Amino acid sequence: MIGDMNPATLANVIQNNNDLRVFCNGCGRCRDLDVHALSKSLGPEMAVPEIGRRARCTACGHKGGSMQVVAVRW
Ligand SMILES: [Zn+2]
Repeated sequence: MIGDMNPATLANVIQNNNDLRVFCNGCGRCRDLDVHALSKSLGPEMAVPEIGRRARCTACGHKGGSMQVVAVRW
């Protein structure tokens, strides 16, 4: 688990071949995110928890979610 003191960035996630998932704080739904698309729109130095704060749920409209880094096995 990565602590808040040293949040992972999009660049870290891509480097490790990981995916990102966001859990809605309103309804609990989760959604997988396209890290490469996020890196292009927000920049590779964007901190992962900050993406969660900005995310808006497509199901219930709640703003803010919890981020989870998902390890992709090759
Ligand atoms: Zn929701």
